[in-house]
Amino acid sequence: MGILEEIAYLHIHNIVKLRPLDINIETINVCPLQCIFCCNRIYKREYTIMENKLFENIVRQYFQLGGGGLGISSMQSDFFFGSYINRQNENY
Ligand code: SF4
Repeated sequence: MGILEEIAYLHIHNIVKLRPLDINIETINVCPLQCIFCCNRIYKREYTIMENKLFENIVRQYFQLGGGGLGISSMQSDFFFGSYINRQNENY
């Protein structure tokens, strides 16, 4: 292991001793696209959007654990599509 890899390892190691490194919250599991490499083309799930209260609860607990990096972009969905759906629902 080179010096840079060792420094990077120690840095991450010291972080995870104190708090989670990061979390990724899937707030929506819908994506309007169909990329050829994406499992969304074959893996069907019931479409859901996380309620704000649940999201806030998760973030609050994460903060209490010490926080860290927070991702809101799942590998299988489009976070920004949620606001599009919400706007569509407001029109009804
Ligand atoms: S989730 Fe990402 S990879 Fe999958 S279809 Fe949507 S944009 Fe493409």
